[in-house]
Amino acid sequence: MNGLLLTGCEIDGVPELDVRVRNGVVAEVAPHLPTDGDDVLAAAGGALLPGLHDHHLHLMAMAAALESILCGPPGVADLAALGSALRGASRAAPAGAWLRGVGYHESVTGALDADVLDALVADNPVRVQHRSGAMWVLNRAALRATGLEHAAPSGRVFRADRALGERVPPIALDLAEVGRRLAAVGVTGVTDATPDLDSCALDLLTAAVARGDLPQRVLVLGAAHVPEAGRSRLTVGPWKLVLDETDDGFAPVAIADAIAALHAVGRPVAIHCVSRVEVVVAIDALSRSGSVPGDRLEHASVLPVGLEHRLHELGVAVVTQPNFIAERGEAYAQDVDAEDLEVLYRCQTLLDAGVAVAGGTDAPFGTADPWRAMRAAVERRSDRGRLLGEEEAVTPRAALDLFLSDLSAPGGATRRVRAGVPADVCLLREPLAGALQTLDAAQVRATIIGGRAVHDDSTQSEELSSQRARTARSPSQLKRVSSTGNLL
Ligand SMILES: [Zn+2]
Repeated sequence: MNGLLLTGCEIDGVPELDVRVRNGVVAEVAPHLPTDGDDVLAAAGGALLPGLHDHHLHLMAMAAALESILCGPPGVADLAALGSALRGASRAAPAGAWLRGVGYHESVTGALDADVLDALVADNPVRVQHRSGAMWVLNRAALRATGLEHAAPSGRVFRADRALGERVPPIALDLAEVGRRLAAVGVTGVTDATPDLDSCALDLLTAAVARGDLPQRVLVLGAAHVPEAGRSRLTVGPWKLVLDETDDGFAPVAIADAIAALHAVGRPVAIHCVSRVEVVVAIDALSRSGSVPGDRLEHASVLPVGLEHRLHELGVAVVTQPNFIAERGEAYAQDVDAEDLEVLYRCQTLLDAGVAVAGGTDAPFGTADPWRAMRAAVERRSDRGRLLGEEEAVTPRAALDLFLSDLSAPGGATRRVRAGVPADVCLLREPLAGALQTLDAAQVRATIIGGRAVHDDSTQSEELSSQRARTARSPSQLKRVSSTGNLL
């Protein structure tokens, strides 16, 4: 089998390097390598980076979001816009078909309930997900169809994805399209942070990875183990624990016990913690239980000053979402306590304290574009230009590094393109110094995973484009599932 020769790449600031890829691995890096029968891709001076890793997202929910109506900012900012989005979808849908909305936030029209939804769409059953992912709101047609009229008269259903999933019709999930979109922004590996993936979701994910529909390497936090079929590119990571300070079981000792039990069976933990109390309790629980390599905090959105030293001592990484500063900054400025605003999605001061910090977009709850997240990490500005936590701003290079560590060591050493590593790379259109000035996904020219080009914006050949047209959203890639977990 032919390999691939990338010529004229800039790597780690060194121009004019050629890179030979054979059997899915970087075989040689040197100037002026002979072609040796390999296919050639001329980089023309563009930077060759390790492929980006999005350390926190939700693949199934991303696929579901492709089939959904956006019900929140920035696209939908008020009641009129919400009404036209839902009514438009209702007109386009068959009579009685379910409508699925996502991304709702109170800034649109306050606390959403069945009455508000009924005034917009009464004929079709409608379910709208809050952008936190923790709540669904149903209209009355949906409450009748699911038999939840008495259990949830307001239409609001909290953290009940599984129960709701058994009562709503399945949706088509196109993981191949998710894979294409990730490849187009240079992503070669992702961590799926969905807790408690059920067997159906895991089977679907495994099949998509095994077939190559989803070409990225995937680390899952919500599975006990992964089926044999997907194992070359699908692996289990730490176990996701979700802390919610409003839960009855929210007690540091119980949480420490749960962590210790997972550590005892060799599993690190990934602790979802958002509020100040949840973050403090997560760190306290880890202090009680002790930490193991691989332990990490997901979000740690409000991290009080001083605790970074504790995290450093414990060796616990933080997987942060700088994109939320840009995407949700205005809402934070309204809703978040002033003292919490300064310690929101900390980054630079954590790095200064020696804490391992990695980036994840939390797509589809955030925009699935790591470059946008990098810009937000540098600029720390809301979409309207409001500066939030200025001292947490990082350099463009540090922002890029948030997405370059190994999936299993988020915030650890920055991966490098050199002989012997898997050929997971991202080719930019220009040298790195220029790309760092814009941090724009449009810079991505080609994405290669395991030696296979999964995205190539430079090859305009008839063959490639016709092949793309054939594979785009072919029916075989649309898998129906009995919806459960985050798939409803
Ligand atoms: Zn998440």
